[in-house]
Amino acid sequence: MTDTTLPTLEKSAVEEFRTEFRGELIEPGDEAYEEARTVYNAMIDKKPALIARCADTADVIAAVNFDREHGLALAVRGGGHNGAGLGMCDDGLVIDLSRMRGIRVDPASRTVRVEGGATWGDVDHATHAFGLATPSGIISTTGVGGLTLGGGLGHLTRKCGLSIDNLLSVDMVLADGSFATASADENEDLFWAVRGGGGNFGVVTSFEFRLHPIHTIIGGPTLWDLDQAPEVMRWYRDFIADAPEDLNGFFAFLTVPPGPPFPEELHMKKMCGVVWCYAGPGEKADEVFAPVREFGPPALHGVQAMPYPVLQSAFDGLYTPGLQWYWRADFITELSDEAIERHMEYAEVPTLHSLMHLYPIDGAAHRVGKTDTPWSYREARWGMVIAGVDPDPANNERVMAWARDYWGAIHPHSSGGAYVNMMMEEGQDRVKASYRDNYERLAEVKRRHDPANLFRVNQNIEPREVNARGSETRPE
Ligand SMILES: Cc1cc2nc3c(=O)[nH]c(=O)nc-3n(C[C@H](O)[C@H](O)[C@H](O)COP(=O)(O)OP(=O)(O)OC[C@H]3O[C@@H](n4cnc5c(N)ncnc54)[C@H](O)[C@@H]3O)c2cc1C
Repeated sequence: MTDTTLPTLEKSAVEEFRTEFRGELIEPGDEAYEEARTVYNAMIDKKPALIARCADTADVIAAVNFDREHGLALAVRGGGHNGAGLGMCDDGLVIDLSRMRGIRVDPASRTVRVEGGATWGDVDHATHAFGLATPSGIISTTGVGGLTLGGGLGHLTRKCGLSIDNLLSVDMVLADGSFATASADENEDLFWAVRGGGGNFGVVTSFEFRLHPIHTIIGGPTLWDLDQAPEVMRWYRDFIADAPEDLNGFFAFLTVPPGPPFPEELHMKKMCGVVWCYAGPGEKADEVFAPVREFGPPALHGVQAMPYPVLQSAFDGLYTPGLQWYWRADFITELSDEAIERHMEYAEVPTLHSLMHLYPIDGAAHRVGKTDTPWSYREARWGMVIAGVDPDPANNERVMAWARDYWGAIHPHSSGGAYVNMMMEEGQDRVKASYRDNYERLAEVKRRHDPANLFRVNQNIEPREVNARGSETRPE
């Protein structure tokens, strides 16, 4: 792999670049620099040599060419939410897509075209006006770019699949500066690779998604006391397996936030819960939620009808930008009674914002084959994430130790790999474990389209190398 530290940029080179660039070029010392280099996770403190805040695809092409010609490390910033801070780099060039957020809904074909720097809040706002939605995550400020390219788990996974299962095409700028559209009928290798392979293959300037007729959902949390958690987990494990696909529900260990809509007696209480999203026919909702009501008395059953974007943004106020985040993740196929016992050792999350979530992966997401996209763990039943989170850096050691130890206790009960979007920088073995048998095919697509590994600030797929005799070698 090539070195990611960089030569100092020549002033004249930047000035020449500026003449062909429509957006903003932001350098250290510029007024906008500090804000522009800040990402969602405040634990990340990277200082790029230049930030190219692109206005359009032509700017992206110019920036990719400039980067390649000057041998700089290159990061691509979509929504800036990545836990490991992979939308930012030290010393190199950042292609910042935050100005490219245009959206065009086509209600007739039920599709939406979204520029590469949009957030899910932008998309929900645009599509909701037409009574339509596409699967995303659970926080509206997350970027469409990173979330989609890594897979996309959220409130609609069981009903509609992952975000990548609803991706119809992408427009991309490749490492050589060329432009490509990739879909099921065009540049099929790239289309396969971008559906889970992350930002390894180029800068996606726009995404086209399939939309579903989803306007109002019935959702919200059901919360139980922590001492009921083993029983709740066992019930949830069995219930969600056979629940109608219109119902999604992710399990959580959490602290109840100290404010409305939560009743005062629950404020700051450590609890367990399930956050539901029912997107089926309203008249069936009572029947679908009956087992939830019938299972033991919850401390709170806060489920109600609401516009889909309200649920999508319900946690935005709690998880504002600027918190310190440390992530660990794994796929879970069996949630055994023994694993539940291990969970209970860490169930009391250390701070208000720290969490453990189990996002269901079944229903529509299970109907896509393991090799149909790079997202290999189609047989897994949950994407588990453990996040140690707090506003105060003084608590970093404590929340990180909790997340590491918790993960260490559960990992032996996991499927091995993890969802790439919920990992820190954990090394090549972890990346390979996450793609399993699909890694080699990804490495071959990477060799074809980015042999010099220009796009390497990500969960990196190293290009497969072929020697003079035509046999394969692996890069050091
Ligand atoms: C609070 C929070 C909640 C989350 N909830 C969910 C969830 O519910 N479901 C889920 O699946 N994930 C979730 N995630 C994880 C999220 O998917 C990843 O953090 C993802 O990387 C964020 O994408 P981004 O564009 O905001 O990030 P960035 O930091 O901008 O980018 C992340 C990576 O994607 C690449 N990238 C981004 N945009 C492009 C593009 N247009 N072209 C090429 N490469 C690009 C970057 O180069 C980088 O490698 C959550 C994250 C946070 C912080």
